[in-house]
Amino acid sequence: MQFIDTHIHLQDFKSNCATDIINQAQNQGVKRLICVSSVAADWAKVAEMATKFAPFVIPAFGLHPWYVEEAEDNWAQKLESYLQAFPKALIGECGLDKLKNPNFEKQGEVFAQQIDLAKKYARPLIIHAVKAEEWLNEFWKKLPESFVFHSFTSSAELAQKVIKNGGLLGFNFSLLRSKNMEKLLSALPADKILLETDGPYQGPTKGEEVLPTMLPELLVEIAAIRGEDKEALAMRIYQNSEEFINFGK
Ligand SMILES: [Zn+2]
Repeated sequence: MQFIDTHIHLQDFKSNCATDIINQAQNQGVKRLICVSSVAADWAKVAEMATKFAPFVIPAFGLHPWYVEEAEDNWAQKLESYLQAFPKALIGECGLDKLKNPNFEKQGEVFAQQIDLAKKYARPLIIHAVKAEEWLNEFWKKLPESFVFHSFTSSAELAQKVIKNGGLLGFNFSLLRSKNMEKLLSALPADKILLETDGPYQGPTKGEEVLPTMLPELLVEIAAIRGEDKEALAMRIYQNSEEFINFGK
């Protein structure tokens, strides 16, 4: 089986070094990683990873909704220059999080700017959305052509909305803790699914760094819940990931 980890923060690992993570991942059939940023200070680190480990590591540059308040005034120009320097880069992660911060204004503004950049440069957008269903209403029609709702654990209804608007859903181990899991997964077309670790953060064991080597385990769980052949599902998800990465190229 082959895998692509569509969401990992390589720069944030404490107990594992990037070279080891990548070598071990390759031994488990992992073919690529999308290395995602959260704050502007990540961008240089993500750029360095993508350069050092090209083409295995694909960069994503963006501003996470938790950190919009602390962004410098010229963040968007800086982000744009990273997109120009890395034609294969995606944008993310970005989005809306009402749980962490009930103040919509700044989050909405920063999200809209990243949506515009995704359209301008034809890049896929990696979206973080938590308790934001209401806020999302003004964005559905504005979203770019290619996007994923990452770390998805929300309702089956929201999943259908994402799909209807042309998006994909990214799942990590947090899905297996969600009470929506069965209803959500059983109603989902296989061509809308991506896998991710959100490493080092969303592992099966709290407090332990999750590694891309654990993707096969996640796939097996999801295939079992869906009552689907794991090889076939792995192949389908791999293709989805390839198409996502290659959008606009
Ligand atoms: Zn993340």
